[in-house]
Amino acid sequence: MAPSVICIGAGPAGLTAAYLLGKQGARTTVIEADPDHVGGISRTVTYKGFGFAHHCGSLR
Ligand SMILES: Cc1cc2nc3c(=O)[nH]c(=O)nc-3n(C[C@H](O)[C@H](O)[C@H](O)COP(=O)(O)OP(=O)(O)OC[C@H]3O[C@@H](n4cnc5c(N)ncnc54)[C@H](O)[C@@H]3O)c2cc1C
Repeated sequence: MAPSVICIGAGPAGLTAAYLLGKQGARTTVIEADPDHVGGISRTVTYKGFGFAHHCGSLR
């Protein structure tokens, strides 16, 4: 039976862990506190049609 894993946080660490564990066959669930964005403090922000790869968002 495949293990079930919960990753807390959809930043680079949580998303990478979920991806790699999923590739190994684990059933992964990512829980993210931010209701609007994934990516943690690394994300692309769109402003007036321009995309900015930026570090933003909350540091918890
Ligand atoms: C100013 C600055 C510049 C940087 N520049 C670079 C760079 O040029 N290149 C580079 O490789 N790295 C850079 N970094 C580092 C990189 O951004 C971080 O190493 C990376 O974002 C860390 O990822 P993380 O998943 O560990 O944490 P985070 O990105 O902080 O993600 C954590 C996630 O967990 C969520 N979370 C927290 N607590 C909970 C909870 N209790 N329940 C649910 N969700 C929760 C948060 O909302 C967030 O989405 C920079 C960082 C800073 C601050």
